[in-house]
Amino acid sequence: MSILVLNAGSSTLKYALFDELAHEQLARGVIDWQTQSEKVRLELQTQSASQTQSRSDISNNRDAVKWILHVLADINLGESIRAVGHRIVHGGTYFCQPTLINEQVLQSLEQVSKLAPLHNPPALMTIKAAQKYLPEAMHVAVFDTAFFADLPPSAYVYPIPYEWYEQYGIRRFGFHGISHQYCSTRAAEVLGRQYDDSLRLVICHLGNGCSATAVHGGRPLATTMGFTPLEGLMMGTRSGSIDPGILIYLMKQKDFDPEQLDQSLNHQSGLLGVSGISSDFRQIEQASQAKNERAQLAMKLFTERIQSTIGSLAVLLGGIDGLVFTAGIGEHSPLLRSCVCDKLPFLGLKLDEVKNQSAHADCDLATIQSAGRILLIQTREEHMIARETERLLELSQSR
Ligand code: AMP
Repeated sequence: MSILVLNAGSSTLKYALFDELAHEQLARGVIDWQTQSEKVRLELQTQSASQTQSRSDISNNRDAVKWILHVLADINLGESIRAVGHRIVHGGTYFCQPTLINEQVLQSLEQVSKLAPLHNPPALMTIKAAQKYLPEAMHVAVFDTAFFADLPPSAYVYPIPYEWYEQYGIRRFGFHGISHQYCSTRAAEVLGRQYDDSLRLVICHLGNGCSATAVHGGRPLATTMGFTPLEGLMMGTRSGSIDPGILIYLMKQKDFDPEQLDQSLNHQSGLLGVSGISSDFRQIEQASQAKNERAQLAMKLFTERIQSTIGSLAVLLGGIDGLVFTAGIGEHSPLLRSCVCDKLPFLGLKLDEVKNQSAHADCDLATIQSAGRILLIQTREEHMIARETERLLELSQSR
């Protein structure tokens, strides 16, 4: 018996297979839609081997789910899937907990899709395909917004006409919640602290998408992403927070329409927009070290926005016991961690450069004298989804 996790993003479909208790990962992989060639690539990694396949007849998540199940069946791992955990980016205000998917839930998810047009529609297609090909399995939705369901009102109400909140539901939702929740729980474990004591954490999830969250005693106090995953830190191709007056100016004076603004701010901004080189942080690092001025500017902007966000979250928390770096850039770039931490000793956070250079998953990078700890936590969103799915499975069986 096993649990399959499907994580449908805007440009990839990640999958992972776990044992029935969600302890051990049996296989994982990704289908990447952002391919240069005609063919779509599927990667598969098991405990003992890895392989890559390419096909030209796969064009959507429906076909992709079928392909994943075939590939798993080929290595004798596809037969006994008893539950599927689906990552859903936006649960709106409807969903605050992992939820068993039925017809009514699907309808509510369709309604929420308008709020996350890049992320929710591919996830819905994935759910429907998985239900079709695995009709006996239990299907569970795990939400990226759920961790933020109990943000305090001061953290989710915007300083705009209150009627916009009441009439249009415009409020901050927060995203990357599965990662922030996993990392804050794991950080407490690494520090030997209880999750729900007064531990004050700032989690920096720095990948293609970037967000930071202040977590106090296991509960989120504030987070940088808002009504959409566009707000907050600078990202790979997303601008993060900018003066909304810019949009009014572009619409009124330069005839920009909503589609152009959407494209520019979601896909042509951030590291890519400033550097003109790439959204991939590795390329920005390389170009910056080769003294490319725009890449250097992009690095500086990226770093300074993280620093000022850590500062403002630290004030809300009244201090930081632990700063966490996670996701692609946070986990794998010693240079970025070093640049960010350069200004943090006044907050009692001192990076040990030797530990930073030889960092590994789930380790403490602060000097012995540092008052607060600096942690590298490997985010494990798929594992967290599998655990939540298993919990719901147990619960439904014990009823
Ligand atoms: P994610 O969205 O979590 O998969 O993170 C993707 C980002 O992590 C991309 O910008 C990558 O360039 C970046 N990344 C991955 N590996 C490294 C590395 N070794 N050094 C610097 N950045 C990295």
